[in-house]
Amino acid sequence: MNNVTDNNADLSSLASRLSSDDERFMRMALRQAQIAFDMKEIPIGCVIVKDGVVIGKGYNQVEQLKDATAHAEIIAIGTAASTLDNWRLDGCTLYVTLEPCPMCAGAILNSRVSRVVYGSPDSRFGGCGTTIDVISGNALKRAVEVTGGILADECLGLLKGFFQQMRLEKGDSGNKGI
Ligand SMILES: [Zn+2]
Repeated sequence: MNNVTDNNADLSSLASRLSSDDERFMRMALRQAQIAFDMKEIPIGCVIVKDGVVIGKGYNQVEQLKDATAHAEIIAIGTAASTLDNWRLDGCTLYVTLEPCPMCAGAILNSRVSRVVYGSPDSRFGGCGTTIDVISGNALKRAVEVTGGILADECLGLLKGFFQQMRLEKGDSGNKGI
């Protein structure tokens, strides 16, 4: 009986340690998103972690690079591969502030990332289960663990703040017709 209790205590401390790590790395992804915000890019940020070390990071640069594929995840996957000098990201966890789109979910499968942790779900174009599920039961038979909703309010808040600011800068009070 004692053993069962001890095991449960071990499991719950492991779970809380993992979730505090998830929050810590999501905060780093949020800092990347803030860089995008400051550059007037839709604020989405990403970090990639292996063995507790950040090996890749990126933020949305679609406008700056004039490249529709320059999503935070794609850039972070590229920098992580450069760090490892290997495109295979087995054992890596990708943290991103918004649920990856189908393109990025495909890149996650191709790069062999082992785990994805996202902040806010994307009800418009989420590719990890919210609108489409590219990851579960994928044809490549890659096992990728997906955890959503880490610091979701902060991640979504940054996006909402961005679009609000863009509307204000365009002189649209949001009250037209009311
Ligand atoms: Zn994407």
